Amino acid sequence: MGKIIYLDNAATTKTAPEVLDAMLPYFSEHYGNPSSIYGLAAESKMGVEQGRKQIAEVLGAKPEEIYFTAGGSEADNWALIATAEAYKNKGNHIITSKIEHHAILHTCEYLEKHGIEVTYLDVDENGVVKLEELKKAIRPTTILISVMFANNEIGTIQPIKEIGEIAHENGILFHTDAVQAFGQVPINVDEFHIDMLSSSGHKINGPKGIGFLYIRKGLKIRSFIHGGAQERKRRAGTENVPGIVGYGAAAKRAADTMEQRTKKEIELRDYLIERVLKEIPYTRLNGHRTNRLPNNANFSFQFIEGESLLIMLDGKGICASSGSACTSGSLDPSHVLLAIGLPHEIAHGSLRLTLSDETTKQDIDYVVDAIKGIVERLRSMSPLYEDFVKASKRS
Ligand SMILES: *Cc1c(COP(=O)(O)O)cnc(C)c1O
Repeated sequence: MGKIIYLDNAATTKTAPEVLDAMLPYFSEHYGNPSSIYGLAAESKMGVEQGRKQIAEVLGAKPEEIYFTAGGSEADNWALIATAEAYKNKGNHIITSKIEHHAILHTCEYLEKHGIEVTYLDVDENGVVKLEELKKAIRPTTILISVMFANNEIGTIQPIKEIGEIAHENGILFHTDAVQAFGQVPINVDEFHIDMLSSSGHKINGPKGIGFLYIRKGLKIRSFIHGGAQERKRRAGTENVPGIVGYGAAAKRAADTMEQRTKKEIELRDYLIERVLKEIPYTRLNGHRTNRLPNNANFSFQFIEGESLLIMLDGKGICASSGSACTSGSLDPSHVLLAIGLPHEIAHGSLRLTLSDETTKQDIDYVVDAIKGIVERLRSMSPLYEDFVKASKRS
């Protein structure tokens, strides 16, 4: 197999070598159960507490406010379901957005079957939540606002500080799914009035199957997984010690390299966007032009099926992602692309490219040239495109 150009870092990332190095001893030498009392266990316990401290530092949080989970999805489920349970005497209304990850949206649907009312906020054409609409949606019974920090498909970053302030002023808890934003953009839980925050290791060059929920001190959030007394009795189960150690190392690495790394990613991202929009006709950029994740570009190509484009890119060693929920076996266009107002046929022709710190300008040039060729070829086989060209010649 030839060289692989991996531009699907929003789906998952490669574990960084220094992260793997940090983890390895916790599989072999330091294998004790952190809950045991002998010296071997103390090594494991120290690894867990160091990981917790490294993560808390990135957020401006206290270590005891970080609760490890089995990933971003569990953290999202926990935040919503536990809040609905703990605050049911105050109310039964949750506000979220139409462009959340399915870990939020499907949890909201579950809660709706159990007496919770959910408002799904619209977003504008760039994928930004409208603050006026948020204010109008607030009821006396609203217990939680959950809006993602940055969108995993179109990269748009939300006005999190403003949303946090609105929640705070109204005495409503604020949760944010920061799986895509943690380690990519600066986050401070106090400055942004964040009460709960979800994150996941494998999106920041850490291991898969480990995440955390930040829970502000004083919240009534109860355990979601019942069993032992781990994680201050709020999340049972023997700790994923190597995972936590690796996650801590990945968080520290992401924070230490953030400025330099994202500067380089933004330059390459903008170069990619510029070339694609200039050289491929009937193409649009999805998501906010500037207020977006440093490594995210998302395009829609008219008269193209995203799936065909992906398969042909794979043939050239390029890993990318489309705007269709092909995992479900169906080809429903992405709820995010529909929410920003794209018609079905345009949403179907979408392509997400997410860069890493290893991506080079040569990679981008190779990828743009490949996309150009493939889009031309697919369009030349499209009867719709043929009709379109004929019609535009007549006019
Ligand atoms: C990947 C992702 C999740 C899910 O995280 P897992 O660790 O894979 O469970 C949740 N939210 C967003 C925005 C994501 O990108």
